[in-house]
Amino acid sequence: METFGKSPQGRDLYAVRAHKGTARKPVVLVQAGIHSGEIEGKDAGLMLLRDIALRGKDRLLDKVDLVFVPIYNVDGHERSSPFNRPNQRGPKDMGWRTTAQNLNLNRDYLKADAPETQAMIGLIRRVDPVLYLDLHVTDGIDHRYDVTYAFSGWRGYYARSAAIGRFLDTRLRPAMDVALTRNGHIPGYYVSTLDNREPEKGMTQDVDTPRFSTGYGDIAHIPTVLVETHSLKPYRQRVLGTYVFVEESLRLAGERAAELRAAIDADRAARPTSVTTSWKQTAEPIYSVDFLGLAHDTYRSPASGRDELRWLSKPVTFRMPVYGSNPDRTVTLPKAWWVPATLPHVIDLLKLHGIRYELTDTPVRSTSTWPARPTPGSAMRTRAIFRWTRPSSMNAVAKRCPPDRSACPPTSRSACSPPSCSNPRARTACWHGTWPRKCCSGPNISRAMPSPRSPTGCWQAIRS
Ligand SMILES: [Zn+2]
Repeated sequence: METFGKSPQGRDLYAVRAHKGTARKPVVLVQAGIHSGEIEGKDAGLMLLRDIALRGKDRLLDKVDLVFVPIYNVDGHERSSPFNRPNQRGPKDMGWRTTAQNLNLNRDYLKADAPETQAMIGLIRRVDPVLYLDLHVTDGIDHRYDVTYAFSGWRGYYARSAAIGRFLDTRLRPAMDVALTRNGHIPGYYVSTLDNREPEKGMTQDVDTPRFSTGYGDIAHIPTVLVETHSLKPYRQRVLGTYVFVEESLRLAGERAAELRAAIDADRAARPTSVTTSWKQTAEPIYSVDFLGLAHDTYRSPASGRDELRWLSKPVTFRMPVYGSNPDRTVTLPKAWWVPATLPHVIDLLKLHGIRYELTDTPVRSTSTWPARPTPGSAMRTRAIFRWTRPSSMNAVAKRCPPDRSACPPTSRSACSPPSCSNPRARTACWHGTWPRKCCSGPNISRAMPSPRSPTGCWQAIRS
């Protein structure tokens, strides 16, 4: 067992690595409780660990290791109440959706505001999983599916990691449906309807953006599957369904580890020339399915004073149209991006996500575009950055002192070497005069101080 991070309230983030023998094998990473009210993944994973250790299921670890995070949102998990998800059938007490900082970890993968996200990205990069499961419970309309799931590439649609999407759709999906059905469950695609009051209108197959686990896995070339049991099914049934899902994932990943690795390598070697940054829903369905629904009617609710929908537990099967997405905006990728030192949070994110970059210490003149208005810290950033831009001219690159000022000679500019350009602490220290002036003079750190009116300073080149 290892601690891979700490929550804002000081709790440890735990991961268990279950393995057989001493040799490291490909990893299946399973996380429960990213929304900690949706918690059966914790019980399912602990049951499976027990059965691997004590009840003869150790063969699951012949070819893969299991890294299991029982509770990802640990602070939310301790904020438990019977009323956190009142429309969910158990457990009796359940945790809270967001973190102690009120951040939703399954909207935070790319921007990584939460320390929990930063820790998880670190864990992901360290174990480099061949398969990553994100365990949830969904609500919405009632239907007969008790274990729904999704990934980029379902039915061949929308995978930015094409080879991985193909593997998940042609290898994992058929095997998973067989395993779940054999164990008495009803598997299906994650249900997101156009209108919960009129389910027959249709459902959607969306393109997950990288703030979600599945969207992040898709752009980072990590085979990632979202598992969503259904909140109106009993807790025991949901735990058992999740157990089957994790067990079958281990079996399949062990059996096809080489194939999975080849798919990951192929996608990581691909160099697309363009990327779609936004999507819009199709006007027509992209396909339809025989949907295993439940009958419903409406009644006048004395509580709300209006007609409300209720489910009648009577099976009905109807043809469900599924709407997809068309590219809304596609951009051609440049050879590289220049990132000024005035955006240290961007550079920190590049480091966190493992994106390679180079430092430059030669002058750069570039015409660039900048947001014309500030972007709120916790909102989705991409659109705000792209929507309002104005041209501006950037000039010299400045070297500056490393954060360790003892390594900084008082006058030698050349000794003030990168990579300190991205260190906001050093820049702030010089700006406020809390560092010796000798370390902040010349074409170094003082000129690197960000200024919205004159964004001159250190630049870093980012390879595409
Ligand atoms: Zn969830």
